[in-house]
Amino acid sequence: MARIPTMTGSRRLLARLRDVMAGAGAAQEQLDRIVSIVASDFVAEVCSIYILRAGEVLELFAATGLAPEAVHNTRLSIGEGLIGHIAAQSRPLTLADAQSHPDYVFRPETGEEIYQSLAGVPILRGGRITGVLAVQNRTGRSYTEEEVETLETIAMVLAELIASGEILSQDELHAVDSITFMPITMDGVRLNGGLAIGEAVRHERRIQILKLVADDPVAEQQRLDRAVAEMHGAIDEMLEAKDVAEGGEHRDILETYKMFAEDAGWLARIGEAITNGLTAEAAVEKVRNDTRARFRKQTDRYLRERLHDFDDLAHRLLQHLVGIPENNDTANLPENIILMARNMGPAELLDYDRTRLRGLVLEEGSATTHVAIVARALDIPVVGRVAEILDKIETGDTIIVDGDNAQVHIRPAEDVYQAFVDTLTARAQRMAAYASLRDVPAETKDGIRVDLHINAGLLADMQNMLETGADGIGLYRTEIPFMNSHDFPDVDRQAELYERVIEQSGGKPVVFRTLDVGGDKGLPYWDTAAEENPAMGWRAIRVSLDRPALLRHQLRALIRAAQGQNLSIMFPMITEIAEFDAARKILNLELARAEKKGRTPIKNLQVGTMLEVPALAFQMPALLKRVDFISVGSNDLFQFLFASDRGSPKIADRYDTLSPAALRLLSNLVEQCDATSTPISLCGEMAGRPLDAMALVGLGFRTLSMAPSSIGPVKTMIRSLSASDLKRYLDSVQDVSEHSLREKLREFALDHGVMI
Ligand code: PEP
Ligand code: MG
Repeated sequence: MARIPTMTGSRRLLARLRDVMAGAGAAQEQLDRIVSIVASDFVAEVCSIYILRAGEVLELFAATGLAPEAVHNTRLSIGEGLIGHIAAQSRPLTLADAQSHPDYVFRPETGEEIYQSLAGVPILRGGRITGVLAVQNRTGRSYTEEEVETLETIAMVLAELIASGEILSQDELHAVDSITFMPITMDGVRLNGGLAIGEAVRHERRIQILKLVADDPVAEQQRLDRAVAEMHGAIDEMLEAKDVAEGGEHRDILETYKMFAEDAGWLARIGEAITNGLTAEAAVEKVRNDTRARFRKQTDRYLRERLHDFDDLAHRLLQHLVGIPENNDTANLPENIILMARNMGPAELLDYDRTRLRGLVLEEGSATTHVAIVARALDIPVVGRVAEILDKIETGDTIIVDGDNAQVHIRPAEDVYQAFVDTLTARAQRMAAYASLRDVPAETKDGIRVDLHINAGLLADMQNMLETGADGIGLYRTEIPFMNSHDFPDVDRQAELYERVIEQSGGKPVVFRTLDVGGDKGLPYWDTAAEENPAMGWRAIRVSLDRPALLRHQLRALIRAAQGQNLSIMFPMITEIAEFDAARKILNLELARAEKKGRTPIKNLQVGTMLEVPALAFQMPALLKRVDFISVGSNDLFQFLFASDRGSPKIADRYDTLSPAALRLLSNLVEQCDATSTPISLCGEMAGRPLDAMALVGLGFRTLSMAPSSIGPVKTMIRSLSASDLKRYLDSVQDVSEHSLREKLREFALDHGVMI
């Protein structure tokens, strides 16, 4: 029976390895000594170390118990054989009968066929595989969890030895052969629009761990405890910082982060590694590596994001352990930073100097990644899911982040670079021109006033309303704060948020749309069954009516927040009158409840609906008797009208918002609303495109709601337009049968000097 290394045994083994590494001899000799020490300590016949060379080759670098000529000759690719399997999975593997594993391959030069059992662990650094450490036994031995843990601790030490560059050159370690130095354009996913040019900065603030092995675990645990306490203090300070304390979502995110910092499981795993003989910083790094390897494999998006928070915390904890003050290492960065990271935590982004941060590129990430939400609030373009970009860039490379087109241009050629510089300059000039329009009305040349509102969902958007001079918020998507949160916000939390929105709107109208979750808007903490067509599935008002408590709580929060003030509420995805009636009934119940509680009544309550399902357009007479206003959600309305998925790039241009069918439908809606003096607005994306907005004004829309960045361009268009000329023109082209009126309308704009 093999001896199981005890905790102290593991520490003794580490101490011996430390002595080898501190002693004389070339790196190869050290490796050779390490394998024989590990083999004897494990009472294993074989101990081998494979190291990953450039070109994704795992080369046998040191072995005891295998044929000596196999060293440096046996090479495996990732996924090949059991060693390749461990590397591919980045997970330990123990097998009492290795040869029956489907990935076992016979390598005669090693002479390993006589060994029956195997225990192998990945050698990880920065979550990336750098090698594999394995032991083998002749008998069918079962390896214990403690033994695997010890092997992992040794692997951690080996990872640092490999990273020192003494075994393989830095060139090989960084696989520079994958960097071409040629211009490259890489595609990703748009996480925030906008354009930025700057210098690549890798977000890899590695802290060098000089001492890996410790003799006194009690002292190390005390160092850890001290560092944890300091870190908690620093996070509290961050929470108290003025802009965080004021900016709702930032705060929520940091609160979650703080909760992770107190996670007992995480701290216990670090403590365990200290007991096994590592220094506090090496223990933090070991757990960080394990976590990184885990989340590389994690397919659940939400869990991946959460695991990432631990990565960020580990970095912070290391800073406290080795005494580098936070922010210190970002001080010497370039003027125009394009940050490149696999992923990062929201607090890490806030560590960078915001005045120099221009853009962010992530290998991972999704629209609900916390860091993307914070980046949006900071108004920097973000492209996510750019596969392996970190292998393709060097610090200091020129990078263009084109958030609008979800592209990243690395080391752009001179002409491409110049074209983007020109675009940026033109944009800056345009922005300055739009800013000067802030206080002038959106009024056509013939005196028609159009109200321009913004679509919002973050508290940070309120600032946009003020800066653009918008007339109000035409669509407040309440689901966005729900998507940001780590659990369902209760009535108090919601009321607090809505109160701030109302307060910051400074008396301008805000239309609160009740929760539109489902479809592409999943809530991370709410597990709903997958649907084949989620956009047409259980979403929006359908969820709210099936889960009335949800709607009641939201309405309660809105009523509480708006006491004594105006309140506009709008229901999403109403398809039939009965749904509106049912929602209205729930609202009435909540109004009655508020009255009973003695709350100050709402000054002016307006209740309306989104019109975004075609069926509702055929129930206008009944609907108009019930609603105070209608807002057309053209994004959904046209996706259902044309049976054309709004999110599918393949059909994005297939049907046009300016097609005869779309315009006829919109025109009908305006006519019916005008006949009953019911306000109608449009809050889909088309409202923010100047040419589309021109057509809408021509059809009779007098209120449009759009992304804040569109206010300037749309206002410019309106101020150069004669609405009566356009109306006459539209009447004359009513019966065309073309695919779209877009070209005709463009010509009209050009002929009449309309600035689109
Ligand atoms: C719409 O459908 O046009 C709309 C404004 O709502 P959302 O984009 O939030 O679905
Ligand atoms: Mg919609």
